[in-house]
Amino acid sequence: MSVNTGYRVPDTEYSQQPDSVELAKQARWWKSAYVHIPFCARRCPYCDFAVVAADEAGGLDMERYVDALVAEIGMECDPSDVHAVNFGGGTPTRLHPDDLTRIVETIDLRFGIADGAEISIEANPEDWTRAFGRDLRSIGFNRVSFGIQSFDPEVLEALGRVHSPRNAVEAFTAARSAGFSSINIDLMYGTPEETDDSWRRTVERAIALEPDHLSAYALTVEGGTALSRAVLAGAPGPDFDVQADRYEHVDEVARSAGLVRYEVSNWARPGHACRYNLSTWMMGDFSAFGTGAHDHRDGVRARNIRRLDAYLEQVEAGTRPRSGSECLDKFESERERFMVGLRLAAGVLPGSIGGPFMTSDEGRRLVDARVIAVRNDRIVVLRPLLTDLVARSVLSVSPGDC
Ligand code: SF4
Repeated sequence: MSVNTGYRVPDTEYSQQPDSVELAKQARWWKSAYVHIPFCARRCPYCDFAVVAADEAGGLDMERYVDALVAEIGMECDPSDVHAVNFGGGTPTRLHPDDLTRIVETIDLRFGIADGAEISIEANPEDWTRAFGRDLRSIGFNRVSFGIQSFDPEVLEALGRVHSPRNAVEAFTAARSAGFSSINIDLMYGTPEETDDSWRRTVERAIALEPDHLSAYALTVEGGTALSRAVLAGAPGPDFDVQADRYEHVDEVARSAGLVRYEVSNWARPGHACRYNLSTWMMGDFSAFGTGAHDHRDGVRARNIRRLDAYLEQVEAGTRPRSGSECLDKFESERERFMVGLRLAAGVLPGSIGGPFMTSDEGRRLVDARVIAVRNDRIVVLRPLLTDLVARSVLSVSPGDC
């Protein structure tokens, strides 16, 4: 089997500090492509993504889905080079390397993949083998993000994850030896089964692997999930104070290991900030393909049909499988830029909304409480865990205020 596409994507070599203003400014102009692969071995109890678990699909037809993806990418008009390609899910590593090759080649054909582009894939440790890692490198993938979540077997079981801590270490090591020079570890904190000690050990083991990038997200209870049904029936849910302590711990350890926090929940070594994520947080243009995928181009936000069968039917009928779209007006677009930009450690330019916000009652309260501040003409959230609260406060600014 040959999976070499013929082009070689250089490893990411840009060396800016992950939290630098210059990097954020560059990211505003990067274009990206997102590919959603919805298939999972089973559905984790907390997950509300557009996924299809093996026991829900009555025989997964991955080939048919890949054909549809290739057809959908072919429907994209006005193609231009992309600087980042991200395969997310679901579990993209459930696809055969030949299928991943087809998709990457189609993106390259329709858009062009810029020299030095980031080509990243989310992976579950249990799927990863040395040979698979080598195949991905030959296709052009240069970044992998492992959904490790925890190194505590009890927590992994509570989260419904299939892998063991040992699988996680083996997958990480195999990816390194296959030549991946940019590897992310995803962790999740605040599961009721987790203790202070088990979180400390999880963070310690993650950092000991020397990842180039670390993401740590709080467990959240999303409506409609098995977890939310269990919590409604009386099972313990996450404790927000405990989660805040866990966040502070991972932030402290990651920083002392040389990782720089550049977004609320993301830390990276210089040169390893995730291009795809940065470009979406900077409201760059990105196209997205697959079930439930959302994209943003030229001020228009659009989303795809979430159900697999309906998605397949639409694409096979030759239609772009949209479930809706909205054209943001100038104020909405500016407000979204500002609210999302608050997530970045580099802060956000005030634009037309920052001034009215900072002088509003809410804004002044947040400044007095040292939650937000102006640094180098940008508005910065000083207490990252309160970013959502600050963003909600921005909703009090109306078009007439700007
Ligand atoms: S592996 Fe990831 S995408 Fe799949 S069900 Fe679990 S959390 Fe959701």
